[in-house]
Amino acid sequence: MSQDAPQAAAARAWGDALAVAVELPRHSALGGVLDYTSERTLAPGTLLRVPLGRREVPGIAWGRATGDAGAAPGGLRPVTLALTALPPLSDEWREFVTLAAGYYQRGIGELALSVLPPELRKLDPVQLARRLARLAKADTGARDGAPGVAELPVLGEEQSAALAAIGESDRPLLLHGVTGSGKTEVYLRAADAALAGGRQVLVLVPEINLTPQLEARFAARFPGRRLVSLHSALTPAARLANWLRAHLGQADLVLGTRLAVFASLPRLGLVVVDEEHDPSFKQQEGARYSARDLAVWRAHRLGIPVLLGSATPSLETWQNVRDGRYRRLMLSMRVGGAALPRVRVLDMSTLPRTRGSELVLAPALTEALRERVARGEQGMLLLNRRGYAPVLHCSACGWKSGCPHCSAWRVFHKVDRTLRCHHCGLAERVPRACPECGNLDITPIGRGTEKLAEQLALLLPGARIARIDADSTRGVGRLEQQLGAVHAGEVDVMVGTQILAKGHDFRRVTLVAAVNPDGALFSSDFRAPERLFALLMQAAGRAGRAAAHAERSEMWVQTWFPGHALYAALRAHDYEAFATAQLAERRSAALPPFSSLALLRAEARDALVASAFLRDAAELVDSAGGVTVYAPVPPPVARIADVERVQMLLESASRSALQRQLAAWLPQLANLRTRHKGLLRWAVDVDPIAI
Ligand code: ADP
Ligand code: ZN
Ligand code: ZN
Repeated sequence: MSQDAPQAAAARAWGDALAVAVELPRHSALGGVLDYTSERTLAPGTLLRVPLGRREVPGIAWGRATGDAGAAPGGLRPVTLALTALPPLSDEWREFVTLAAGYYQRGIGELALSVLPPELRKLDPVQLARRLARLAKADTGARDGAPGVAELPVLGEEQSAALAAIGESDRPLLLHGVTGSGKTEVYLRAADAALAGGRQVLVLVPEINLTPQLEARFAARFPGRRLVSLHSALTPAARLANWLRAHLGQADLVLGTRLAVFASLPRLGLVVVDEEHDPSFKQQEGARYSARDLAVWRAHRLGIPVLLGSATPSLETWQNVRDGRYRRLMLSMRVGGAALPRVRVLDMSTLPRTRGSELVLAPALTEALRERVARGEQGMLLLNRRGYAPVLHCSACGWKSGCPHCSAWRVFHKVDRTLRCHHCGLAERVPRACPECGNLDITPIGRGTEKLAEQLALLLPGARIARIDADSTRGVGRLEQQLGAVHAGEVDVMVGTQILAKGHDFRRVTLVAAVNPDGALFSSDFRAPERLFALLMQAAGRAGRAAAHAERSEMWVQTWFPGHALYAALRAHDYEAFATAQLAERRSAALPPFSSLALLRAEARDALVASAFLRDAAELVDSAGGVTVYAPVPPPVARIADVERVQMLLESASRSALQRQLAAWLPQLANLRTRHKGLLRWAVDVDPIAI
């Protein structure tokens, strides 16, 4: 090879070589992008099938060959198949994926292929042509519907100001307003403007459950536009069809959960992230990305507006506002001036304790519920624990219903008389007698939603009580069915987990109560208070949605710590006070957003193996790199399904220092791994949300 023209020589040697993103973890020996040859010139972004070892795998033409010929003894292999009928994935999309893969420390191909609809990777050219033809047929005449709805509400002053700001700001925008303050109306107007300009709009929501409601609102507002949803509960065929519509530019509005942030959108002009503080935007396996953060990046790179909506912004977002990186748009009142529910903090320690039976609800709360029911209004009780009781106990020998495979108790579910582990799924019939000593008197300890509903039925005879949680809503359409009954007025009091707090537009609810929220105040996870505050604010937002009821709407909190600052802020509906206090604590403890974190997690049958791997990994961290490495510790539930988990925290005052360290460090761990027999898995989580 001549020294002055290595590239020309390389081109001669390889024919028409190209780089292809294939599904390999970044830290496998090969990396995520490999070189192949092709007889025809293939546009970057073309979907391919390529040989890999003895298999044939999906790939994406990624760009010019990397020149890494060393990995291919015997020369480069040719591409097997190219799906040229599909327009290639754009430069923008590929650059976005590359950026995300780099930041979250994953292989490019691994991430790129994991965010495409699974069906797409299986199609041959004939099947693809058939799908495309079907979509083309369905598309004709789709966009000549009515231009819009006739009667739009007149925007309030703050809404108008927000809308104007969206048109002119080059910073990410936080739309800060309580439930019912008109945020969605602003999304709709901003979307209207983007659509009128011929652009596509991406709307991200935290939960699949929330998509139908929002979808209906967008569909009603834009009858002439094509709207598609993207989330993991779609059938594979529907997900593919919707993805294709977005990719082909046929869909004008794409509404989806976190994975939709990776949709291919050739005309993207606006991104909305509703409930931006919600932890569901963080993917918890594989590439552990934050869809909220990626949405901001993607919009920024495209130079288009991104709108983050919340009543209780994440503290990261709030600090970005304080630093001037984001701009806050405030909606300070509920539409129509409806009052916010009065918050009542009930001091449980002042109540007399009935001997033998623990107190379920304070008498005053029971009475308040009874009043609502008598008036034909609805109440809602929140308890963040499903099942009947978190543990069964034998008073004779001390046996407890532990899970044999996890470091957790098995939960007693009375409805189907099972003991169920919420971590590994192990379910068994409740034993008649203590498995250790045969004592017949085994008793439930503590209380879950099942027991609360049962106790409530005794306190409010005749009231119609519906329990709504992950158990009661298992199965397609079950949640909608249960919510339908609530909307139809067939339910007086709902008892449920946080599933109830999110988004639903209950018109008759005038009382919401958190039965026992104190646990989060003293959690080892520094984000627990932030999450509790958001949950309670959101729950309060369920009360008094209809202005007619707003005046007498209340949010009750039963607590043993009535003086806690979190509850004081809640009582005043004062997010800012809460955020200011929390941020001061975070700053003094050097926690996010004042530092950047990454977690290295390791799993093994034996915790010692996992810890040893982490300790050796810690040795490899450059001590001059500005990154602090903490000792390996077990997470709150260390053993799940007989696998022990251990994690190690890395912290740095500088995000880029942490990124540099991770990029240099992780490839070494791939080698280190081979020295630790018995290590099952390791993975890094950048910006973890639970530690
Ligand atoms: P949020 O998204 O903050 O919960 P919404 O946008 O859903 O608030 O607004 C709450 C209710 O008020 C909705 O029924 C909406 O149609 C209505 N609304 C919003 N903006 C206005 C307005 N400017 N004038 C009248 N009604 C409005
Ligand atoms: Zn026993
Ligand atoms: Zn288990």
